[in-house]
Amino acid sequence: MNNVLESIEYFRKAKDYAEREYYEPKRDTEIITNLFNTAIKSLEKQIPRKPLEQQLNINKDLIGLCPICMEMWVIKYKGYCANCGQKLDWRD
Ligand SMILES: [Zn+2]
Repeated sequence: MNNVLESIEYFRKAKDYAEREYYEPKRDTEIITNLFNTAIKSLEKQIPRKPLEQQLNINKDLIGLCPICMEMWVIKYKGYCANCGQKLDWRD
């Protein structure tokens, strides 16, 4: 977890630096910024988040709504959202 948090912090600083520097053509700055944003979003999905609206389904399995994409109902034994890849934390 610490490696993930440290990596996110590193990428945020690197992105800020890239945005402050002026690359020619300007399009290069946009490409670099998008790459850092993709890396940051991917790493953030490794930080476990609690599913929303937890409830029991018809088979008495605990289910919840993915807190990131809000489009996928996930079941307790799944560690990740099948739609967006968010890591899930089912602890009380
Ligand atoms: Zn999701």
